[in-house]
Amino acid sequence: MGGQPMFIMSEDSQRTQGRDAQSSNIMAGKAVAESVRTTLGPRGMDKMLVDSGGDVVITNDGATILNEMDIEHPAAQMIVEVSDSQEEEVGDGTTTAAVLAGNLLGEAEDLIEQDVHATTIVEGYHEAAGIALEAIDEQVNEADVDDEILRQVAESSMTGKGTGGLTAASLAETVVEAIRHVDTDAGVARDNVTVHTQIGASSNATELVPGIVVDEEPAHDGMPSAVEDASIAVLDVELDVRTGDVDAEYAIDSIDQLNAAIDAEEGELEGYAETVAESGADVVFTTEDVADRVANALANEGVLVFEGLGDSDARQVASATGARRVGDLDDLEDSDFGSADRIHTETYGDDDLAFVEGGAAAETVTVFVRGGTEHIVDELERAIGDALDVVATALESGEVVPGAGATEISIADKIREEAAGIEGRKQLAVTAFADAVDIVPRTLAANTGRDPIDVLVDLRAAHDAEGRAGLITTGDEVTIGDPFEHGVVDPADVKREAIESATEAATMIARIDDVIAAE
Ligand code: ADP
Ligand code: MG
Repeated sequence: MGGQPMFIMSEDSQRTQGRDAQSSNIMAGKAVAESVRTTLGPRGMDKMLVDSGGDVVITNDGATILNEMDIEHPAAQMIVEVSDSQEEEVGDGTTTAAVLAGNLLGEAEDLIEQDVHATTIVEGYHEAAGIALEAIDEQVNEADVDDEILRQVAESSMTGKGTGGLTAASLAETVVEAIRHVDTDAGVARDNVTVHTQIGASSNATELVPGIVVDEEPAHDGMPSAVEDASIAVLDVELDVRTGDVDAEYAIDSIDQLNAAIDAEEGELEGYAETVAESGADVVFTTEDVADRVANALANEGVLVFEGLGDSDARQVASATGARRVGDLDDLEDSDFGSADRIHTETYGDDDLAFVEGGAAAETVTVFVRGGTEHIVDELERAIGDALDVVATALESGEVVPGAGATEISIADKIREEAAGIEGRKQLAVTAFADAVDIVPRTLAANTGRDPIDVLVDLRAAHDAEGRAGLITTGDEVTIGDPFEHGVVDPADVKREAIESATEAATMIARIDDVIAAE
């Protein structure tokens, strides 16, 4: 070999090892978590994100912020994944999970500086996470989760979000009603609740539509704007002269031939109108075009037609009404029809909407929300989406825990208590985990303009004296009290998931001591 260096990797790849690798990963992870910290809680601030194309998103939602940030660093990307998995599993707590992961990394960094080995940190963190889960179990409500508690869960998840002119309380009411509607013996069919937002009015109106809403207008002005007890056909049929006929070259060299061609076309169109009218359908949805003449003829017959539907809308209409999609008019049979109690069209500003209510197969409900601007409705949609998720989660498990930092205070307390019995350096790691969990009440304090240390001291004292203590925000007031009494409640699963996903990401990042990156 004669002293020649041996390359096992491409010369272009970059390698960072040991402490350098650890600290650069930890720094990146911490930085990402830090970026969402100020949005946590009822007094959290919003972020305005502008992409390279100039599109603006204004949001308070952790997962949305992290995803819009276009993060490249691999360790930082893992924090984004924490909030993504949190969003996917339970639908809320994304900021909490990211902030917790960042703080676990910060504590790990201190431990590494004190020469605690990464393996010991990982073991200690896992042990502490186990204690945290037990602490959560101990905090779970004893009373049944009733509508009142569900409304509180919904409201707690929306407080501090940009809900425009709507109060979280009034939205919570609608959200619980929606989830109750899709609650079956087989569980909560969360997917059967959709949210439809409409720009143009002030955001002081929400309603629960017992069905679906599609962005469609009637194919002709003369059509009825409402049909009761409707038989509905959902077609993938073009009710127009076949494109083939138009493209074909006619060798027309006499007026008679021209007239014959026109007659043929008219005959074809009349045929469509007749077939549809005679089928008995009151309302037709088609994914293809409808010729004006056909629309006019059907309008005269009092049939309501919607043309050019998107595929997903067509699928939604079919599943909500029990209709079977038909690709050829000649195949249309009675058994293909769906039904609905009422279909009506409404105009909102420049938009026309079709409401399909009380469909035969109607398990679907739509939360219909209006807001002044696109930014308001987008954020409203996210807030309502979170609220629907947490209410579904709480209803399914029947388990809620006190919010406002109270659960975190008791988690940290229990971990510190049990840490005393843990031997060696691992004890340091377990205690560090408790310190990291304190980030939630600390941040809630900081975001309400309070001194985090003072608040932590007061919360611990109140916790020791009364068992449950959170930093409650109501209107302009911030007080220390029992979150259950103030209706600040989170689903237990949101807290469990946050502990688990944050621990997983932090231990994974802390364990890395070698980063090999291809150029
Ligand atoms: P996340 O993305 O983690 O859900 P949020 O900004 O939604 O972040 O904040 C959630 C935290 O705010 C939870 O700890 C919850 O208990 C707390 N919270 C909600 N409502 C209140 C309130 N009225 N007073 C104090 N804390 C509250
Ligand atoms: Mg939330």
